[in-house]
Amino acid sequence: MRATQNSNASKIVALIVQKYGGTSMGSPERIKSVAQRVAKFKAKGHQVVVVVSAMSGETNRLIGLAHEIQKHPDPRELDVVISTGEQVTIGLLSMALIDAGLKAKSYTGAQVKILTNNAFTKARIVSIDEENIRNDLDEGKVVVVAGFQGMDENGNITTLGRGGSDTTGVAIAAALGADECQIYTDVDGVYTTDPRLVPEARRLKSITFEEMLEMASLGSKVLQIRSVEFAGKYKVKLRVLSSFQEEGEGTLITFEENDKMEQAIISGIAFNRDEAKITVLGVPDKPGIAYQVIGPVSDANIDVDMIIQNVGVDGSTDFSFTVHRNEFNKAMDLLKKTVQPHIGARDVVGDNKTAKVSVVGVGMRSHVGIASKMFRTLAEEGINIQMISTSEIKISVVIDEKYLELAVRVLHKAFDLDQESA
Ligand code: ADP
Ligand code: ASP
Ligand code: MG
Repeated sequence: MRATQNSNASKIVALIVQKYGGTSMGSPERIKSVAQRVAKFKAKGHQVVVVVSAMSGETNRLIGLAHEIQKHPDPRELDVVISTGEQVTIGLLSMALIDAGLKAKSYTGAQVKILTNNAFTKARIVSIDEENIRNDLDEGKVVVVAGFQGMDENGNITTLGRGGSDTTGVAIAAALGADECQIYTDVDGVYTTDPRLVPEARRLKSITFEEMLEMASLGSKVLQIRSVEFAGKYKVKLRVLSSFQEEGEGTLITFEENDKMEQAIISGIAFNRDEAKITVLGVPDKPGIAYQVIGPVSDANIDVDMIIQNVGVDGSTDFSFTVHRNEFNKAMDLLKKTVQPHIGARDVVGDNKTAKVSVVGVGMRSHVGIASKMFRTLAEEGINIQMISTSEIKISVVIDEKYLELAVRVLHKAFDLDQESA
């Protein structure tokens, strides 16, 4: 905390950025309750910047509308449309704050000047002009900023990808050097796995930044991955909390392994239903083939995740990889029409009913046998593993989508993460 003297009392004040997600902004009542929470922090003498999402369901509704007009909406215009959800909530929250007797002022991303690159629908933040925000804070105002949006250098409205308000929140906290960035959502912290899927999941008091980064990238959407990256780069003190509870310490993202309060080997289980698997069969086993398969896929802007190439026998091999399910048809088309004839592969087969399950934990560095325990647990349930990938702190497997829930549950239990064994 910054030891700044408050004018009328010698309180320690802090600069806090609070981000409220869609459910937390989901109705006029919820918005008024957010205003009450902000008022409490103000009453303690803190300076508060609030970053908000659109009301829950609104961004989906806007995307749906766009698709009713155009099958593949123009990306610039899509961002014009989907950024409006947050413009509504900044205004509404500011009104609620003013009604509660506070001084408040709203800003869209462009008004702040959150400068991004021009990658519409998945823009990256380049810089934030924090001067206006600082002036308003010094005048005692609560500053309310629209999440998920920015502006490119030509003044075009951009958006930051789904869940992007988290990233706005952390980026503003970094730009202001805030004492803490609080992410308020509909769960009271980061859990060992998605509590919607596994009711026995447990809230973690803390999780290391590296683990959170893996969890987010492997499918736990409680924080957008870029927000975690920002927190790591700028060492933002980041906490996930519930906007539905009066009290609670939530989950702190820590930067030191030693600060971790729990010392479990596995911290959490992440999963992702959006994985689709593609296999190119009978590929000539010679130098340059991986590039000739993956090159055209990535040139078409399709992200490739796991890749496996088998040992070649009789001069040919099989080559498998995963892509996002939305891009499955596009990738299959490309491979069948251009890559297969070009490299002389026997066939291209695909499966878009797959899912990825990952166990994550820094404890893997110092413990052996995690992979074998994971594989044995899945084998005991008759779940076939189609692909495997590992890093220092995670093991991921691709399985048939229909076993996803079962896999997460049995792994959660096997690694002693269930609540009763806490
Ligand atoms: P918001 O609208 O507040 O941004 P999100 O829906 O984006 O909320 O993120 C919160 C949701 O993330 C929770 O309701 C929960 O279902 C899901 N979730 C997935 N994995 C986890 C996890 N490991 N811990 C907590 N929540 C998780
Ligand atoms: N409203 C946007 C979305 O639904 C951004 C966010 O909520 O973080 O993805
Ligand atoms: Mg979110």
